Amino acid sequence: MKISKTVHNIEQSLTLALTAKAKQMKKQGLDVVGFGAGEPDFDTPEHIKEIAIEDIKNGVTKYTPTGGTPELKEAICKKFKRDNGLDYQPNQILVSPGAKFSLYAAIMALCDHGDDVIIPSPFWLTYPEQVKAAGGNPVYIQTGVESEFKIKPEQLEKAITPRTSIFILNSPSNPTGAVYTKTELEALADILLKTNIAIISDEIYECLLYDDVKFVSFPTLRPELKERTIIVNGVSKTYSMTGWRIGYAAGPADVIGAMNRLQDHSTSNPTSFTQRASAHAILGDQTCVEKMRQAFDERRKYMVQRLNSIPGVKCAAPKGAFYVFPDVSSFYGKKLAGKQVNGSVELANVLLEEFKVAVVPGKPFGDDRCERLSYAMSMQDIVKGLDRIEAALKSMA
Ligand SMILES: *Cc1c(COP(=O)(O)O)cnc(C)c1O
Repeated sequence: MKISKTVHNIEQSLTLALTAKAKQMKKQGLDVVGFGAGEPDFDTPEHIKEIAIEDIKNGVTKYTPTGGTPELKEAICKKFKRDNGLDYQPNQILVSPGAKFSLYAAIMALCDHGDDVIIPSPFWLTYPEQVKAAGGNPVYIQTGVESEFKIKPEQLEKAITPRTSIFILNSPSNPTGAVYTKTELEALADILLKTNIAIISDEIYECLLYDDVKFVSFPTLRPELKERTIIVNGVSKTYSMTGWRIGYAAGPADVIGAMNRLQDHSTSNPTSFTQRASAHAILGDQTCVEKMRQAFDERRKYMVQRLNSIPGVKCAAPKGAFYVFPDVSSFYGKKLAGKQVNGSVELANVLLEEFKVAVVPGKPFGDDRCERLSYAMSMQDIVKGLDRIEAALKSMA
């Protein structure tokens, strides 16, 4: 059948495709080490699970208000006050089936056909596809390992056109782990405040920060920014709850209302029996978060040190999230296991097929010089996988 032009233009998720191939190889009994994970490897904490089990037993299995229960919205408002010093009312909050949908609703609510949407590159590969789905044009600002994957204010200024309607910020970043400092964000804010561009700030990795870096929520920088910014966040990454599908957005009531209307007629409410549990995750004991963060930190340090010890690999030390994004472009043009490697996709394929180690190519994230490696996996597997990568890269000629 004829597929609509809009959906035809949406790319297949290359990360999901490669993860599927690695899984299939594992199923065949092959000993594959996967660095592809896009979610924490920890189980959801017990005290959160208990609430959901109780709710299922008690019949909390029906529709809720589209934008989330009043209790969960209250809990989210308290979280913004407690963690970010931001005042939001429940009518400025939308709860969605995952932060991914909050993001989609925000883009749909703010982007008209033909609008430019500025996306720093490398980027989470969902952003440009959602922009395209809304009829907008993704406009990229290129960064690299040299600039620690962060854009400069001059670059932002240059990228702005009369058609620019949204700037998407993701700090800490997936795939690079880069975190902007307060000063760096202020410089970007001052440029944006000279325009009427809306900001979508994807703060999903807020709690996964390292080396004493402090999180800065974008709208806290300048008072006027709160009227222009949609924050997107959720419980997936912070509490290891990716399968629960609870994400949320905060912003001006009129934009949140528009996003809610879209959600009314697309997904309806997020899952009923995960909402009270999510409120409990947000307001309850936070020691589980610190435990996960410490485990990630230990793995991060090991990964960065091991990767940089391989001649030809350049790996910036990420300050957040759970990914490293090493530049391996010095190996392009060489041969691996007899096969010529010219880019991140080919290298990832040969590593998987010949060395049984799965990494995610940087190309779909906007940087073909790099590969993305997640460290949401056991230390034992990290060691084993890096041994294989090291042996592979050292054999290239
Ligand atoms: C995982 C992720 C999300 C979405 O998470 P949900 O599971 O949909 O809540 C959003 N942004 C980034 C950058 C992510 O990595």
